[in-house]
Amino acid sequence: MLQNIKVRTKSRTDLIDITYEIQQTITKSNVQSGYCIVYVPHTTAGIFINENADPTVCSDISKTLDRLVPWKSDYQHLEGNSAAHIKSVITGTSVNIIIEKGKLILGTWQGVFFAEFDGPRDRTIIIKIIEG
Ligand code: ZN
Repeated sequence: MLQNIKVRTKSRTDLIDITYEIQQTITKSNVQSGYCIVYVPHTTAGIFINENADPTVCSDISKTLDRLVPWKSDYQHLEGNSAAHIKSVITGTSVNIIIEKGKLILGTWQGVFFAEFDGPRDRTIIIKIIEG
C-alpha cells in the first residue's frame, strides 16, 4: 500500500513531527505486521527519527545544522540553496520502521520528523507499507 502525506512548511527550516500521521496511515491499512518506508521525494528536505518529547532537542538539532552548514558560503550551485541540499544529505531522505500489532515500533522518546530546509513550501511524504 502506498500513501502520500502532504505538509505545508512555515519557515526555511521547519522540523515537523509526522509520527501521528504515519500511524494513522498504518491503522487505515489494517496491516498488523510488517514495516513501512517513509520517504521524501525532495532534494532540500529530509526525514529522521529522534526525540519528540522535549522540543528543545529539535531546536538544538536545527541550530547545530545551521552552524555546520551556513546558508551563505562559497557554494557554486546557482539556485542559492546549497545549504538545504547539504542538510538533506546529512539527515537522509527515508527511514524504515517496523510495524507490530498494527503499531509503529518506536522507542518511548522517539518520533518521526519531516525536515524542511528550504521552506516555506508544500511538500509530499510517501509511505509504503509492506506486510510480512
Ligand atoms: Zn537547489
